[in-house]
Amino acid sequence: MKIMSAPRLLVFLLGCMTAATASPPPTLVIHGGAGVILRADMSPGQESEYRAALQAALDAGYAVLEAGGAALDAVTTAVVLLEDCPLFNAGRGAVLNAEGACELDAAIMDGRDRAAGAVAGVRHIRNPVRLARDVMEQSPHVMLTGEGAEQFAATLGHATVPNDYFITERRRAQWERARELEARRQDTTFLEEKVRLDGPDERKFGTVGAVALDRHGNLAAATSTGGMTNKKYGRVGDSPVIGAGTYADNRTCAVSATGHGEFFIRAVVAHDIAARMAHRGETLAEAAAAVIAGVGELGGTGGVIAVDARGHIALPFNTPGMYRAWRKSTGESAVEIFGAGDR
Ligand code: ASP
Repeated sequence: MKIMSAPRLLVFLLGCMTAATASPPPTLVIHGGAGVILRADMSPGQESEYRAALQAALDAGYAVLEAGGAALDAVTTAVVLLEDCPLFNAGRGAVLNAEGACELDAAIMDGRDRAAGAVAGVRHIRNPVRLARDVMEQSPHVMLTGEGAEQFAATLGHATVPNDYFITERRRAQWERARELEARRQDTTFLEEKVRLDGPDERKFGTVGAVALDRHGNLAAATSTGGMTNKKYGRVGDSPVIGAGTYADNRTCAVSATGHGEFFIRAVVAHDIAARMAHRGETLAEAAAAVIAGVGELGGTGGVIAVDARGHIALPFNTPGMYRAWRKSTGESAVEIFGAGDR
């Protein structure tokens, strides 16, 4: 064996110590929904509005990480901004259910101890992700629904808003088109008509989410949504279902999904990505790509954003586009909307 000289040995040992004590690279990834999002359907003005909204949420969430803050706070900050933005299907701007009202779902998960909180079918909570966080931190439960969730919110003094606060003109028009199409479902021309009437809003999901790795090595994920247009009978999608639309575990990764929720629940998407990493030794990119391919095999569409405990990211989707943005500690950052590198 070759013996190292004393100075070289010192450099080697210092290198090892730095590697052992180096803090993890803060990383944030956000999404604003996947779907048939095509440049041809979007005016340059609309496109820049979406890009600006994603950039603002990314910057606000990343500022938390840069200041040494927790992944949990970074994802909460980013998702609250996206909920407040009327462009996305979460909080203000959420899609309407069959009764013409907004019913919101959200979840959050802490990768340190896999604590989780979720709400489903709430109608008056301005920021459902904040309530999901309170379910995680202030209650012994993981998921609260409907009126019960709102009663819990009242005990904590959550600000409430009338349901109209969430409804935008654009979503109401989209809902009216969806109802017209549904009423004509028996009509033989229905399918042709559907293709003609579907605007970009009808063919994209629009849920929002964020995943983060902080300097302390902790992962977190959060997702918030209005669900699917014209949903009925208290339908709940994957977003608030821990392991389907949202999952975080420091040992593997943090994931937030968007897409046709029924398929994402059946494929247990977010947890399956973590499980493939844990049990099969797959990388984040391999696991996320395989799970989205599996969703496609079931007939489902959508995508995920994910970050692992070393700051690797993956953003696979099987739709033409997905509103998404990410930033790493190396300074690399992007805001993308369309497929294949967004170019
Ligand atoms: N996954 C959501 C749901 O099924 C929809 C979306 O991603 O926009 O409720």
